[in-house]
Amino acid sequence: MSRKRATNLASSTGVSGEARDSSGRVFLCRGKARPLWFGHPWVYANAVERLDGEAAAGDIVSLVDHDGHFIGRGIFNPRSQIPVRLLTRKDEAIDAAFFAARVREARALRTRLGLPSAETTAYRLVNSEGDGLPGLVVDVFADAAVVQITTLGLALRREAIFDALAATLSPRTIYEVAAGSYAEVEGLVAQTRVVRGEPRNLVPCLEDGLRLQAEPLAGQKTGMFLDQRPSRMRVGQLASAGKGLRMLDCYAYAGGFGLQAARAGASEVTAVDSSPRAVARIEAHAAANGVPVRAVEADAFRFLETATPMSYDLVVIDPPKFARARKDVEAATKGYQRLNALALTVCAPGALLVTCSCSQNIGAQDFERIVAVAAKQAQREVRMVERGGPGCDHPLPPAFTEGQYLKVLFVYVS
Ligand code: SAH
Repeated sequence: MSRKRATNLASSTGVSGEARDSSGRVFLCRGKARPLWFGHPWVYANAVERLDGEAAAGDIVSLVDHDGHFIGRGIFNPRSQIPVRLLTRKDEAIDAAFFAARVREARALRTRLGLPSAETTAYRLVNSEGDGLPGLVVDVFADAAVVQITTLGLALRREAIFDALAATLSPRTIYEVAAGSYAEVEGLVAQTRVVRGEPRNLVPCLEDGLRLQAEPLAGQKTGMFLDQRPSRMRVGQLASAGKGLRMLDCYAYAGGFGLQAARAGASEVTAVDSSPRAVARIEAHAAANGVPVRAVEADAFRFLETATPMSYDLVVIDPPKFARARKDVEAATKGYQRLNALALTVCAPGALLVTCSCSQNIGAQDFERIVAVAAKQAQREVRMVERGGPGCDHPLPPAFTEGQYLKVLFVYVS
């Protein structure tokens, strides 16, 4: 905790054990309100001048500018580097009716954009800041909803969130999945478990007509990585444009990229993941869809180092975050360079490389530069042909650049 923050928020008291609206008002330093007027939902610690009244971690507070003008109401946590996250710009109660309205609104947005559909029943229903609910992600897999809460304020209000989901979706099962590293920072407790309805380990769902099974209790994240759906679908289209392609899907998880390519008629598809559970899922998914995918349990770097050079026509690289924090950026950049150089080495002339980074700390331009450096290292000529990103079920406020984490580059390799 910075000294400034400790001083500024000295009147905050402990951790709220219950969901309380407090009378606390957080005053911003002069000149720090601008991003918030333009829709940015976060208040960084260095923007806080003082707390007026009392508020404990997890309470709802009002946010005002330096002159006391009301900006909105949000979740308070003086332990966090982001002590206030705005939930609303109205002076309203944050209660069960508030959460019900937010979830209905999130649902209306997806319906407007055609989700769910006959082909796709796995989609993100609540995308945190993008749906006015910072700290809440809800992924829907057909008749199941999977909730991940990463702020103490919402964790204290989780029952109201489950009620809102039950009322809007009537799901057969509601799961909560643990918050990972956020739990400690925020001081919240979250276990991966079934919170409502029928306990099931696997939830059948559809993505672009492919039959998949999400694994909320034992999988990674919420049970599937929904942000990559548009890029997976695009890979399917690109695979059908070339005949008899040899395709390599690295960091495959559920195998979605490879399944798309196999369905589109690729002559051979190899999917690599270091997790035995992911490999088992890829095999099950290939069988369920009647398409041939060879699933390999291996470290992707090792696999690429020993693969035959120039032996694939379509290569996807979708690694986990290399840069978790700013201090990791340098090492992560080197890692991405090496990985992309290896990936380019296995690309045959005329191949497409689809390379991804989900590190928020590495910007779009940084990533493009990484690919340029990788091409130099691999001594291959490359051209960017498309850029991709998360789908329409991952909305964001335009001012909230922190929410832009996923980069997908489609590269033509000569
Ligand atoms: N492409 C996937 C999502 C990938 S998430 C999709 O479309 O759904 C990242 C994946 O990388 C996880 O499945 C994780 O198990 C895997 N992974 C992590 N480290 C790895 C490594 N060193 N080698 C191979 N796979 C790894």
